[in-house]
Amino acid sequence: MKLKNEIYDAIIIGTGIAGLNAAATFGKEKNILLICKENSWDCNTFYAQGGVAVAVDEEDIALHIKDTLEAGAGLCDKKAVEIMCRDGREAIDDLIRRGMEFDTDEEGNLLYTKEAAHSRNRILHAGGDATGRYIHRFLMRENPHRLLYNSIVTDLFIEDGYCHGVRVFHKNEFRNYYAKAVIIASGGVGSIYEYHTNASSISADMQGLCIEKGCDLRDMEMMQFHPTVFIHNKGARKQLLTEALRGEGAHIVDDTGKRFLFEYDARGELSPRSMVSRAIYDWKQKTGREVYLNCSMFDEEFFRHRFPTIYHNLKDLGFNLPYDEIPISPAFHYAMGGIETDLNGKVPGVENLYAVGEAASTRVHGANRLASNSLLEGLVFSRRAVNDILRRDVYFHVKQFPIKEEILEKPIDKALKNRLRSLMWEAAGIIREKEKLQEALEEIEKMLKKDIGKLLRLRLNTSRNIVKSAIYREEPLGAHYIIQKGNA
Ligand SMILES: Cc1cc2nc3c(=O)[nH]c(=O)nc-3n(C[C@H](O)[C@H](O)[C@H](O)COP(=O)(O)OP(=O)(O)OC[C@H]3O[C@@H](n4cnc5c(N)ncnc54)[C@H](O)[C@@H]3O)c2cc1C
Repeated sequence: MKLKNEIYDAIIIGTGIAGLNAAATFGKEKNILLICKENSWDCNTFYAQGGVAVAVDEEDIALHIKDTLEAGAGLCDKKAVEIMCRDGREAIDDLIRRGMEFDTDEEGNLLYTKEAAHSRNRILHAGGDATGRYIHRFLMRENPHRLLYNSIVTDLFIEDGYCHGVRVFHKNEFRNYYAKAVIIASGGVGSIYEYHTNASSISADMQGLCIEKGCDLRDMEMMQFHPTVFIHNKGARKQLLTEALRGEGAHIVDDTGKRFLFEYDARGELSPRSMVSRAIYDWKQKTGREVYLNCSMFDEEFFRHRFPTIYHNLKDLGFNLPYDEIPISPAFHYAMGGIETDLNGKVPGVENLYAVGEAASTRVHGANRLASNSLLEGLVFSRRAVNDILRRDVYFHVKQFPIKEEILEKPIDKALKNRLRSLMWEAAGIIREKEKLQEALEEIEKMLKKDIGKLLRLRLNTSRNIVKSAIYREEPLGAHYIIQKGNA
């Protein structure tokens, strides 16, 4: 076996918007190592459809803050929200200056659309409904730094309050990489849920590792479920139908054509997504009816141009859009909770460890994320983290750690992973009951005692944290909907 040690100015774990934008902010002169699992595009950023929220002008900043705080249901850090909404405009303008092209009208004016719970049109998009793909492609083209593909970070070297580097499993060997700063930009937790919209690389391992290293996760009960997902396609990642469809007029109906959302909230299709998710889940359970997204009010040409990804993906599955109704279900979508950080993305208690993007909890989203605020968070806080690192210019003696082999997977893991997914969906999903959560916790504890591989153990650590946080918060708040036994 070949063993290697290398030292960098910074190591960035993840090549989504947060990781790539952090790399860009460091500039070409710094010696940066980016690490991702499999391909760089196998990340949630690549699949983002709707767009990126940003205050349209100075006047809109206060309104964007207000909308974000309202969606967050009292759990946001107001300062973090103010930072995101104020700095967001500059971060987007910077991206545009660097060459990123968002959709514009014929005169070249930026086109802003609307999504649920935004009080005005402030969502920029690119390639119609391919915003994430366009941003990712742009950031990848821009990236001057070394990128290690097909690599899993399996350990963080934390000692005496410093993070010295990471252990990586790459091409069947373990390697140690060292740096003056480590930025975790590893995304959310999708793969621990049975139905989810996330990329396959998103499996909560860095959150689980942070727990083992004594770093806190925060607000892990706050998991967002997207209401309009086509779940009948093969493969773990389910097909999302962007919020912008409802924002621009699509209806949610049951098989009698009834727009039943109005029985739950006067805003109907434009209610916050947790409300819509619960209403669909509840209506299906109560009536046994199938629920659909009806897009037939759109002109075909407009639909194909505005939502090309959905048009083509569903065409391949046999749908004639916008005319056919699409059967929908809610599915896990986004983790508001994550690795606790300060307002610069720094992990408390470890001098040179940072977390940004969906992996982090800056508390900008509070108990519920306002649609399209996550790409913006990734942009704004990755810049802040890098500027903080550059400002501190941390110098310390990088300590070398032994290169150790770890058993990442064991034969029983696959069955247990599948069981964990359904357990999380049933117990820590859209509607939660304390008793079910308690049973899930016991089962997770039992799984953790089995002879399992490290990667499953890390997933289980994160899942246990989610379940415990959900048990601890006894009253419903934001995306966390907990009820007394049998009371939907
Ligand atoms: C289908 C879909 C649509 C969405 N639409 C929107 C939208 O319109 N607007 C919006 O604002 N948000 C949207 N979101 C949410 C948003 O896309 C994500 O929150 C955001 O892209 C997360 O970016 P990130 O950089 O934090 O992580 P990601 O883009 O998810 O990247 C994570 C990276 O970490 C790497 N990684 C993970 N674990 C490890 C490990 N152990 N070792 C090495 N590498 C690791 C992965 O390989 C990947 O490169 C959407 C999400 C999905 C799934």
